[in-house]
Amino acid sequence: MDFKVLGCSGSRFPQAKLTSFLIDEVLALDAGAIVSSLSFKEQMKIKAILLSHSHFDHIKDIFFLADNLIGRNPYPIKIYSISEVIQALKSHAFNNIMWPDFTKIPDTHNPTVSLEVIPEGKKVRIEGFTVEAVRVNHPAPAVGYIISRDRKTIVYSGDTGPTEEIWERVRGVKNLKGLIIETSFPNKHEKLAYLGGHMTPLALKSELDKLWYVDCPVYLYHLKPQYRNDILKDIKRLRNRNIKILKQGRTYRF
Ligand SMILES: [Zn+2]
Ligand SMILES: [Zn+2]
Repeated sequence: MDFKVLGCSGSRFPQAKLTSFLIDEVLALDAGAIVSSLSFKEQMKIKAILLSHSHFDHIKDIFFLADNLIGRNPYPIKIYSISEVIQALKSHAFNNIMWPDFTKIPDTHNPTVSLEVIPEGKKVRIEGFTVEAVRVNHPAPAVGYIISRDRKTIVYSGDTGPTEEIWERVRGVKNLKGLIIETSFPNKHEKLAYLGGHMTPLALKSELDKLWYVDCPVYLYHLKPQYRNDILKDIKRLRNRNIKILKQGRTYRF
């Protein structure tokens, strides 16, 4: 799997784009930086988008992508998530008030995007990938994703504070090639992290301890740039050689 980092920042600054990844050119994982990172031709290749939750930093580019592709894409782009997220998009976003309802235009039979509910805890096939959504711990309903192709599996935590279910699943995963986990705040802002349903390096360590025999690279994302130096210092103190920081713009091969 070619895993391209379109954005991996926990806050938006001129050089720091929001969370969004592109796998094998066709499957996007969250949508914080699709149109700000991809050419029109690359945007046209996307077939499906998996959303971890409805927070704005993870969904914002679905709106501009729909606006770019209207009348140009032969089939709707399928936007997948759990039912609460899909419902939130219908009620609060594609409602002709906040944004046009691109699920009905140019026409209801062949709209620009379609909203699709993905069941939780069940493997489903999406565009040649096997995908499983697993609930995580965040103030808004949120899931992480276990994604496999060609007997290689990666796990994306989505935004989450300390959680259980997804690690239970990960313990049973064969051919695990990478864990992509959020870490948003430094240890000294543990309280802020807790309130926002996010992780600090210390919380990350406890989470990784739940995976005692899992030995694969751990890529961190969602670092808040305004706390980056403190977070990096805290991570160094963990002395875990598997931990790396995802780099915006880079493609990782799993
Ligand atoms: Zn969030
Ligand atoms: Zn976020």
